[in-house]
Amino acid sequence: MVKHLLKCPSCHGYTMKVQCTCGAKTESCRPPKYSPEDKLAVYRRQAKGLG
Ligand SMILES: [Zn+2]
Repeated sequence: MVKHLLKCPSCHGYTMKVQCTCGAKTESCRPPKYSPEDKLAVYRRQAKGLG
């Protein structure tokens, strides 16, 4: 089972706890490579940049 990493929006640190050591609530971070929308955005950006 893969433990999912949580990211702290306050200090930008990574932890597996729901609350960071700085006291802020962490949020789940999803790698952008799993997002199909992001993939399309890359193609769109390339098309735009290359003309
Ligand atoms: Zn923090």
